[in-house]
Amino acid sequence: MPQPTLLDSHCHLTHDELAADLDGVIERAREAGVAAMVTIGTGVPDGEAAAEVAARFPRVVAFAAGLDPFTAAEAADEGRFDAALAALPGVLARPGAVALGEIGLDYHYDLGTPTEQLARFEPQLEMAVELDLPVVIHVRDAHEDLADALARHPRCRGVIHSFTGVAADAARYLQLGWSVAFNGIVTFRSADPLRAAARTVPIERLLVETDSPYLAPVPVRGRACEPAFVAHTARLLAEVRGEDPQELAARTTANARRLFGWPGDSSPPAGA
Ligand SMILES: [Zn+2]
Repeated sequence: MPQPTLLDSHCHLTHDELAADLDGVIERAREAGVAAMVTIGTGVPDGEAAAEVAARFPRVVAFAAGLDPFTAAEAADEGRFDAALAALPGVLARPGAVALGEIGLDYHYDLGTPTEQLARFEPQLEMAVELDLPVVIHVRDAHEDLADALARHPRCRGVIHSFTGVAADAARYLQLGWSVAFNGIVTFRSADPLRAAARTVPIERLLVETDSPYLAPVPVRGRACEPAFVAHTARLLAEVRGEDPQELAARTTANARRLFGWPGDSSPPAGA
């Protein structure tokens, strides 16, 4: 059994596929060398649920919560975006909170105009600065607007999750001081441009994740994804970057723990 050194920086343990068997999910992660994970709550109720999971597994699971583009659009349509935004700091005050997110811009789906999405996104960036929390970013088909928005908030820090852009996109985020996280997509046969981008990210800015229960990596593609599978993604990344897998595991975990302010030898911090 490998020494548990990996950290899955982005998973959704509150989703049915994983929530139904949390003890098994965490045991299989440990057996695969995954010592810790950050579960992401999208919206206020899911953020509360994520906090409950973190409370149940305090040294293994930390959590983040934010109004992602889907949740934010739905709340706005129903006239309750402001109330959801106002409730977020209460969720993030719970023990085990290590980041605000995922939040971001998604132009792939019809979730509002760029102006509308930015008006829901940027107040959360400001909130993260006020709460002194890093941010987990979701972005799809919106790299330019996202980078411009991050440049307007230079005190914000965090990670671009599920990065699927090209090397030039990564370069802009890196130049703005952000980290970049890769998941199972980087293992897909068609992902040569993404693997090329992955080679350009300095090791000190690199994170790994699953986004489970979605996006299971090769060679377990098609199965329900779980945090244990981050080991496959980390191994592939080490291979394409020409690095030692143990070294990459240790470094990406150290990066995540530093970014999230989550020391490895104790419980997660007691919220913001
Ligand atoms: Zn996610």
